[in-house]
Amino acid sequence: MENSIFYQEINNEKEVFEHSFKNKIPLLLKGPTGSGKSRFVEYMAEQLQQKLITVCCHEETSATDLIGRYIIKGAETVWIDGPLSKAVKEGAILYLDEVAEARPDVIVAIHSLTDHRRELFIDKLGETIKADPNFMLVASYNPGYQKGYKELKPSTRQRFIALSFDYPKADIEMMILENESGIDHSNAKKIVNIGNKIRNLTELGLAETVSTRLLVDASILIKSGLAKRQSMHVAVVEPLSDDEHTTTSLRDLCDLMI
Ligand code: ADP
Repeated sequence: MENSIFYQEINNEKEVFEHSFKNKIPLLLKGPTGSGKSRFVEYMAEQLQQKLITVCCHEETSATDLIGRYIIKGAETVWIDGPLSKAVKEGAILYLDEVAEARPDVIVAIHSLTDHRRELFIDKLGETIKADPNFMLVASYNPGYQKGYKELKPSTRQRFIALSFDYPKADIEMMILENESGIDHSNAKKIVNIGNKIRNLTELGLAETVSTRLLVDASILIKSGLAKRQSMHVAVVEPLSDDEHTTTSLRDLCDLMI
């Protein structure tokens, strides 16, 4: 099928996704922010002609948010399905982005969907729903070897097959920048070189290093006509750090290499 979404494959992940979908095995995408996880899921949903429901999880995301709740409408209370119940009934792909950030009861809620039962228990309705054959659960999390990110329990991880995402090799990342922004090859090369230089500067102690997303943003600004240096400052340097010494070093590096 002709895809309208651009996704540059890195390591045979499309085939893994297809088999995961075919065999209804939940899929976990591990990797830092901006490494293409969400784009990959969007691409695969289109490829497989499946509806995609995405939930961006955060600290307050609860099982109720996913399963559903009663709301008061005029004189009545009506039940509203949450995204998980909807996906289970309609046979959609449910993508729980940053699942480790959600409250622990979210993990409990998806348990019976991640094993042979493939069913969802809605306690407020006292109902158990069998998942539609096309229902698939995909989740992402950021292993965050550094600071600030929550861990996913090993017992939860073992309910999924998992794919690791990382920033792509230089030639592939250049292709992504060119495709995403229309920037020319020589500028794409310079930006990717800067990205890789920063990624190797471990002494800066950045909580998260420069993602493909930031490099795409810089390319878009340059293509749009903003001066190259300023594009790098606002798209790469400033989002990476608030520390003055660090931003000065990063700015110098970008000015030199762009
Ligand atoms: P994540 O979900 O891992 O945080 P995204 O999927 O949102 O990251 O990727 C951020 C951006 O980086 C995308 O919008 C896209 O422009 C670009 N990108 C990263 N990896 C790829 C890839 N393999 N193919 C195409 N675009 C990519």
